[in-house]
Amino acid sequence: MTLFSAVQPAPPDAILGLTEQFRADPNPRKVNLGVGVYQNEQGVLPLLRSVAAAERKLAAQPQAKGYLAIDGLPTYDADVKELVFGAGSPLLADGRVVTVQALGGTGALKIGADFLRQVSPDARVLISNPSWENHQALFTRAGFTVAKYRYYDAEAKGVDVAGMLADLDAAAPGTIVVLHACCHNPTGYDLTPEQWQRVIDVVVERDLTAFLDMAYQGFSAGIEEDGAVVRAFAERVPSFFVSTSFSKSFSLYGERVGGLSIVCADADEAARVLSQVKIVIRTNYSNPPTHGAALVETVLADPELRADWVTELGEMRDRIKAMRSALVAGLADAGVTRDMSYITDQVGMFSFSGLTKEQMVRLRTEFGVYGTDTGRICVAALNEGNVGYVSASIAAVLD
Ligand code: PLP
Repeated sequence: MTLFSAVQPAPPDAILGLTEQFRADPNPRKVNLGVGVYQNEQGVLPLLRSVAAAERKLAAQPQAKGYLAIDGLPTYDADVKELVFGAGSPLLADGRVVTVQALGGTGALKIGADFLRQVSPDARVLISNPSWENHQALFTRAGFTVAKYRYYDAEAKGVDVAGMLADLDAAAPGTIVVLHACCHNPTGYDLTPEQWQRVIDVVVERDLTAFLDMAYQGFSAGIEEDGAVVRAFAERVPSFFVSTSFSKSFSLYGERVGGLSIVCADADEAARVLSQVKIVIRTNYSNPPTHGAALVETVLADPELRADWVTELGEMRDRIKAMRSALVAGLADAGVTRDMSYITDQVGMFSFSGLTKEQMVRLRTEFGVYGTDTGRICVAALNEGNVGYVSASIAAVLD
């Protein structure tokens, strides 16, 4: 009998498991559409020009690596606020927003979840059905009971808006509702501005706690355009949470750069909230790392680098859109007669392809094309060189 003899092996991570299977696959034409990582036309993870320039700038003036403040680099936090809420936001002028640097979007969600557990210990958490797989685990781990609101309408290929609103309307006051601000993962279907207003109506009427997860700002229509959802909440909802990730938008996956913003009633409340959030951070990892935030901050603070970053983000967004169209065209060329145009209605890095688990398994085993069993494929991993093969493979399993 040892301390760990009763420890059971945890189930393997579905997506990492797929990657391992992909690596072991000898098929020379294999394509990994499982992981949510943007790849360029050459099929490689890009180092953005703006980020490379920021690296050079930082390297030219090497700094000692002291501890950052518990809530991170102040200039970085200020920039995150402006990106998320807009530079002219009255909330910022009134000092109502607390923003702390976080370890990517996941770290931001976890700080928010731990803080919420302190202020609303009995609240339930609602996530979309389906959702990014870590939402359920993360909020459960933070001590909450997690349930789902209706979201994906498989028949209509879109959002089940009526079902979503009904489920939110039935939630108890104080329920924490996790919402994908844009580029819903995994479905690729977002709400329209009018539908968001109806969600906000329910959030206000039922006194729900909205937690907007913004992991893909800039990947749907642009930084400003995608931020409109947050501004719509800011106009009408007195307190809510926003988690930001720069993993995708700066292609800085491994640097763990993100932020958590909490909208408060006034500046006094914001100061009290910040003091408690700092304790959450202090007791988890003390303070965040320096380099990733310094890179983002260097890009955002330099008008030329910032403009180049906006261009690069637009290039990533446009390339993904072009690949959606190429996939729809490729499927038609490969003889698929059913309407696949919903792939171009979706936004962001993913497509809910509509394929069944059996079809996804066949895609993998017979063709070396890897997506998740739910039918999710990462469109951002398609390129001119593989989209024809992927289309033909999908066509072969569709009949
Ligand atoms: N939230 C959603 C919806 C995501 O899709 C992801 C990443 O895939 C994250 C959060 C986590 O982002 P990060 O990698 O910055 O922790």
